[in-house]
Amino acid sequence: KEDEYLENLNKKIEEYDPNTSKTILFKDLPLSPPTLKGLNGAAFLKLTDIQRESIPISLKGYDVLGSAKTGSGKTLAFLIPILEKLYREKWTEFDGLGALVISPTRELAMQIYEVLLKIGTYTSLSAGLVIGGKDVKFESERLSKINILIGTPGRILQHLDQAIALNTSNLQMLVLDEADRCLDMGFKKTLDAIVSNLPASRQTLLFSATQSQSLGDLARLSLTDYKTVGTMDPS
Ligand code: ADP
Ligand code: MG
Repeated sequence: KEDEYLENLNKKIEEYDPNTSKTILFKDLPLSPPTLKGLNGAAFLKLTDIQRESIPISLKGYDVLGSAKTGSGKTLAFLIPILEKLYREKWTEFDGLGALVISPTRELAMQIYEVLLKIGTYTSLSAGLVIGGKDVKFESERLSKINILIGTPGRILQHLDQAIALNTSNLQMLVLDEADRCLDMGFKKTLDAIVSNLPASRQTLLFSATQSQSLGDLARLSLTDYKTVGTMDPS
């Protein structure tokens, strides 16, 4: 029964045409029941522009380079595709790390984590936050049980470099959030090192508020077969 449901959901996503779609309500998107329930519970009903443009493409499995100004709703534009990807892969709490979200600052990482807890209430997946400040070894022991990990670049790389490193071999989705800001803060080399550690088969979503030459370079390095969505700030 569940397989039948999944098959139907996958078919709906395949048939969904992001170009002609005027979907403005989350309930009209081909989303899983736990995600819809979580969105509803948090009173997220209508999609913002960047969500309407990017979520269908992300659901279809493409890499995405998305740009839209601060406050436009980029967090849900990547958290929803993460939850849906793992749902459709029948991810369980025992399957290890399925998604990794990189955010430039501790504050932003914590905000993302809070939104994830809200909309992910009805999934059995576990979420973790690594932003420094705690003992790396202490964090390491818990990371083996985390399905969706959010963290800052330096701290994530630190975990990848540990003796008992974070196991990314099964990673389905990488998100680089506020990528422009990551670059401004001097994280280019750290991001390159993280990306080179991850399986090439993953899907990658890269979001930023602005466009730049260096962002294009990062996109070329981290994305494959990607679609560009959102507003292009000509800078
Ligand atoms: P960005 O990352 O683009 O700066 P956020 O994801 O932080 O934007 O969202 C900005 C604000 O908009 C947050 O307060 C968030 O709760 C709200 N928001 C995002 N998406 C929606 C939505 N679909 N409906 C209502 N509010 C939303
Ligand atoms: Mg944001």
